[in-house]
Amino acid sequence: MTQTKNLWEGFVDDVFASTTGVFSVGAAFVRLNERTGVFFPRPIAYMFCCNEKPRNIASMRFKDIPGQESAKAAAMGAVARGRLSHAILLVGPEGTGKLAFAAALVQRLFCSSPSPDGDSCGVCDDCRKVSQGGHPDVHYVFPYARSHDAKASNEETYIAFREARLKNPFLTLKQWAAAFDAENKQLVIGVEEARALKRALTLSAFEGKGKAAVVWRADMLNVSAANALLKLLEEPTDQTTLVLTAENPSDVLPTIYSRCQKLTFFPVKAEIIARYLESKGWATADKAQEAAALAGGSVAKAMEILRQADEPMLAVFRDWLNVCYKGAWPEIERWVKGLTERPREFQKLYLTYGLEKLREALWTGLSLPATTAPQERELVQKFARMLDVERIETAARMLEDAVFRITRNANAKMTFVLLTLKFHQLLRAGR
Ligand SMILES: [Zn+2]
Repeated sequence: MTQTKNLWEGFVDDVFASTTGVFSVGAAFVRLNERTGVFFPRPIAYMFCCNEKPRNIASMRFKDIPGQESAKAAAMGAVARGRLSHAILLVGPEGTGKLAFAAALVQRLFCSSPSPDGDSCGVCDDCRKVSQGGHPDVHYVFPYARSHDAKASNEETYIAFREARLKNPFLTLKQWAAAFDAENKQLVIGVEEARALKRALTLSAFEGKGKAAVVWRADMLNVSAANALLKLLEEPTDQTTLVLTAENPSDVLPTIYSRCQKLTFFPVKAEIIARYLESKGWATADKAQEAAALAGGSVAKAMEILRQADEPMLAVFRDWLNVCYKGAWPEIERWVKGLTERPREFQKLYLTYGLEKLREALWTGLSLPATTAPQERELVQKFARMLDVERIETAARMLEDAVFRITRNANAKMTFVLLTLKFHQLLRAGR
């Protein structure tokens, strides 16, 4: 154990240092493997698949958005030919990337050295300013719940929205409401916001590159706000681009709808969502596919499934470890019955969750930085104390074997009973 730890500590730092830019455990691991020549069995290698949670995204280019190829081609083509309408409406189902697309379009409009494929460069000063939400000529309008002291909190709300959309470019209305505890309140874009936007757009541009505004959820403008916005569309100020988003065209005021160039968004194919989630390092390939398959074409929903998948798992997993440790038959039977009554998708996610906790326990045991969520630390530390590296490997094989069986529709009850009994022996063997 000590020897292993030293071996690892010797390499990990400079291997991580050499994976410049993006921190990817997966990539670092491959390099670790290449450089050390140490053979890591597949289950262990599998556990090193990166499992970072969604985090800030520095730049938003069209190529960072999964799917929507026709909308991308239309927008990039129009910009390149100088034929982009002064008002664009992005319309399509929730979670298909309209807000992210609006950000990418605005970034492209301001980019000072667009790439030959028509996308923004993502690295120039303008791209950076736009993507970080700090460009003085870019404005966002969005729904929120108005309270009595709304005036005092406008600035805070604006900052909160910027944080929320930077953290999650696929932000949904529900998630946005939850960010300020307004799940049960009516969100709306009021007339004040529309007027404030009008004022901002009539000022001359600070940086001489025109102005842009994103109206997120134009279907939530109240009547007076919609009328105020309509004036902006009827008498467009010079060099101003308005990008509106809406889920349902029939919820947009017809006079607004008719004045916009429309770009239609479609549900994203499951394999594209899966590839996206995996490429961002938010899930292992298997887990990304599970989430994407259940998401109905919504990237936002797939991300939500990934997040939620961890929640009930912790309770089930903790319960299972107690059952394994005691090894008493009535409890094993109860636990197995509970799990086998759930869908096979859940059973697979459960096993994958177990593999992840093993990986975290291994990292913890080796004093390496593990990305364990706070509520799971106790469990993972306990796990790390109970199992040494060798037994973690054995445990990982058992879980992998169970994943294999469940995926191939083997008898779930039998699989989980055997797994529990084997885990019981494993946990007891070290006492
Ligand atoms: Zn740029």
